Amino acid sequence: MDWETLLKENYFKILENIQRACEKSRRKLEEIKILGASKKQTSEKIKIAFKLGIKLFGENYVQEAEKKIFELKDFPIEWHFIGRLQTNKVKKALNLFSMIQTLDRINLAQEIQKQAEKRDLIVPVLVEVNIGKEPTKGGVYPEKLEEFIGEVKNFNRIKIKGLMCLPPYEENPEKVRPYFIKMQKIFEKIKTYMNSEFKELSMGTSNDYTIAIEEGATIIRIGEALFGKRS
Ligand SMILES: *Cc1c(COP(=O)(O)O)cnc(C)c1O
Repeated sequence: MDWETLLKENYFKILENIQRACEKSRRKLEEIKILGASKKQTSEKIKIAFKLGIKLFGENYVQEAEKKIFELKDFPIEWHFIGRLQTNKVKKALNLFSMIQTLDRINLAQEIQKQAEKRDLIVPVLVEVNIGKEPTKGGVYPEKLEEFIGEVKNFNRIKIKGLMCLPPYEENPEKVRPYFIKMQKIFEKIKTYMNSEFKELSMGTSNDYTIAIEEGATIIRIGEALFGKRS
């Protein structure tokens, strides 16, 4: 089967699943944005996904993204960074991405502030939460989150648009639901004292996006269920 047929089938399956999850949780379809998690997928496939209707893509590696974003420069794609960001890559990342979804350290915030000042930019970010408290993963631990957000508020070049998480992988996606519920609770609490721009909750991947939607996700990040296996 060619990529166009495959991606089309995948995309329509995803749309159906999203619709069902929205009905089940009485949410509106327009509240959910699909982000194509395109790491290790070709520009060709990203182009096909874009033409099918996905306008937002996320990349994990600055170098890989740079190449693909250049190849796709004629398409009005919105690119978010969703990987672990090293401070020495911030400068380049700010040229490539309209949002950093993985802010999780003060030294990273400092570097973003510094580079943004130089170029007179305001940088939209999500704060990544390590909701499963996994030592090998990035993200702020839940109990440190409010303090962290309080500190980031002092950086006038950084705009916090919401929260992001990547919970522990579970074969049975129902086992991920408690993490999503926790995220939603934290999100709602913090929302009470942030301005109206704090509104995005980025959670859910190929395996569990319908559950993430049921528990309040506004951005779902889908890789292999859309593009097929990563090469
Ligand atoms: C790879 C990746 C995804 C997508 O994962 P799939 O299982 O392929 O859907 C989502 N979020 C992040 C942060 C990722 O690195």
